[in-house]
Amino acid sequence: PDRIVVVGGGLAAGTAVVELRERGYEGELVLLAAEDHPPYERPPLSKAVLLGEAEPDSTGVKDPQWYADHDVQLRTGARADGLHTGRRQVLVGREAIGYDTLLLATGARPRRFPMADNSGASVSYLRTIEDSAALRARFGPGFRLGVLGGGWIGLEAAAAARTSGAEVTVLESMDLPLLRVLGPEVAGVMAEMHREHGVDLRTSADVTGISRTDDEVHVALGDGSGVVVDHLLVGVGVEPDTTLAEVGGLVVENGIRTDRHLRTSAEGVYAAGDVANADHPLLGRPLRVEHWDTAIQHGKVAAANLLGGEVDADALPYFFTDQYDFGMEYVGHAAPGGYDRVVLRGDVEGRTFTAWWLDGDRVVAGMHANDWDAIDDVRRIVGTTVDATRLADDGVALGDL
Ligand code: FAD
Repeated sequence: PDRIVVVGGGLAAGTAVVELRERGYEGELVLLAAEDHPPYERPPLSKAVLLGEAEPDSTGVKDPQWYADHDVQLRTGARADGLHTGRRQVLVGREAIGYDTLLLATGARPRRFPMADNSGASVSYLRTIEDSAALRARFGPGFRLGVLGGGWIGLEAAAAARTSGAEVTVLESMDLPLLRVLGPEVAGVMAEMHREHGVDLRTSADVTGISRTDDEVHVALGDGSGVVVDHLLVGVGVEPDTTLAEVGGLVVENGIRTDRHLRTSAEGVYAAGDVANADHPLLGRPLRVEHWDTAIQHGKVAAANLLGGEVDADALPYFFTDQYDFGMEYVGHAAPGGYDRVVLRGDVEGRTFTAWWLDGDRVVAGMHANDWDAIDDVRRIVGTTVDATRLADDGVALGDL
């Protein structure tokens, strides 16, 4: 191709652009990024940045100078708002930019909670550098933070806030935080850990009203109780940003639908990262993953295929989290109903263990908690069939499975 256009300013877009140049592509390369920053990574925004250990703008995929040095036309603050796949043009306002091949890496944005938005109270979401910087500025002893939603972002923010000495209340509608992702065995460990660190974790919380009095946020719950905080952080998940894909008439179905090569329904147009609902060759069905590692893998696969390759996007989902002194890595995909048994090995009380999700004898997902040497075994074992009795036997080394 003579000109490749990449739309998006996240990790998938940034990785794709770097990979294109590393693969020796010398044609024109245009990167349209809606935010006022070159592509950056988000995981530190709810961890090191909130803890005050890293600066908000320190997480760039590459130094800004890299783009100039590699002849990438980086346009920040440029939101693509039109797409004519017939004419092979992307629009930014009235300006039309032609492409030979196009990558849409428009990511995801926080799911809104209208009751909070309409309350007039001090409420925010956490997705961008600005969101993180604004939240961190308020942390410290005496600050009362409410977190709506006990998902990854909410729990990481809760941990960082507690570490700063703030008072934290987490409101989770299910019986346990992360219940759907981890199941009760491991979700219970997470809940206990946060309570030990002094988080007021309210589960089965049914939020019935949010209102503002002076500088306080009042959250009313269905059981008649309530919570008063200084600020409410909403973390109730994300939605794929398919606005541009819809304008262009692409097939959109829980994100932009692609085949295993990340090809969308339009000729020459690919999608990657949080926005892509891609056929997964190993799982045999489409899967949309909202994780850091997939953004990187997709970015690389998309780059190869934008140049005419036919590389499969076949990496298994992988994610990690850090909260307090607890870290974990998870590989695979254990959807509710997709497994019939969870095996825990190691010291669960001491929070140094591995967990395995099995469908019969097939391991569909695995994770380690604070047992960093185990990650190679987790990667090797997930997707294979094992003797479940041996897996459950702590006396059998993982390496022998
Ligand atoms: P995004 O990062 O969403 O980037 C998409 C970009 O495209 C955005 O900047 C958007 O403004 C821009 N854009 C959208 N539409 C247009 C348009 N029309 N024109 C131009 N630009 C456009 N994952 C993990 O695995 N582990 C973690 O610990 C972890 N922590 C996280 C912590 C936080 C606070 C957040 C927010 C996410 C975290 N994630 C984590 C998830 C991970 O960051 C995402 O999976 C990853 O950012 C996805 O990258 P992406 O490039 O697909 O999309």
